Amino acid sequence: MTKLRSKLVVGNWKMHGRLAANAALLQGVARGAQALPAGVQVGVCVPFPYLAQAQALLGGSRVAWGAQDVSAHEQGAYTGEIAAGMIVDFEAAYAIVGHSERRAYHAESSEVVAQKALRALTAGLTPIVCVGETLAQRESGETARVVGAQLDAVLAALSEQEAARIVVAYEPVWAIGTGKSATSEQAQEVHAFLRARLAAKGAAVANVPLLYGGSVKPENAAELFRQEDIDGGLIGGASLKEGDFLAICTAAAAGESVAG
Ligand code: PEP
Repeated sequence: MTKLRSKLVVGNWKMHGRLAANAALLQGVARGAQALPAGVQVGVCVPFPYLAQAQALLGGSRVAWGAQDVSAHEQGAYTGEIAAGMIVDFEAAYAIVGHSERRAYHAESSEVVAQKALRALTAGLTPIVCVGETLAQRESGETARVVGAQLDAVLAALSEQEAARIVVAYEPVWAIGTGKSATSEQAQEVHAFLRARLAAKGAAVANVPLLYGGSVKPENAAELFRQEDIDGGLIGGASLKEGDFLAICTAAAAGESVAG
């Protein structure tokens, strides 16, 4: 049986924002999202201190909100860490885990990322699990091995029912913040590989949303989102510009994908 898979577009603000500027952006995105077709879901992952602001300004809108990381621990003596339950206190929907910047700058292993995904799920958050290869790994033909191992570590820590509730984002490290996006063919090839890997975990996992991230812009979004296994995007730089982010969401509306 075939069915339409809806699209999901999530902004990753990274370490950007201040209260005053955020208000205009959040309100503008919430307003603009009202015009999007029902088949497009939108979210923004803000820095932790702004979760309350996102809750206040996005509550009741079409736009969900989330965090950019979550602790692998439930609670306790972990100074500076933020527990999944704390994020849920602000009615957040998402937590990004395993972003390449955290893997690179905070030495997060795939096993730690798996624990974070499990913590998020247990608390009721949807983890957006990021995987992606470096340029050197791509050039030496290791893309499938690298992203496969990153995904497998998370799937190994989850039951089939839990795994069915994650979102996966393929973000080639060489495309993040560089202005150099993967071509739609390159992205689709990896997404198809990841889809097969998810399906091997169980039928319920096969339709997990697979987002592409890495220099998505209004100019390249429609072509990326037209690909069979690209269910939306994780958007960094362009999510800080209301017009660009909404244009990317609109492009997603045109590319609802067909699932087998
Ligand atoms: C990201 O950091 O998740 C990202 C996709 O960044 P950008 O869109 O700026 O490449």
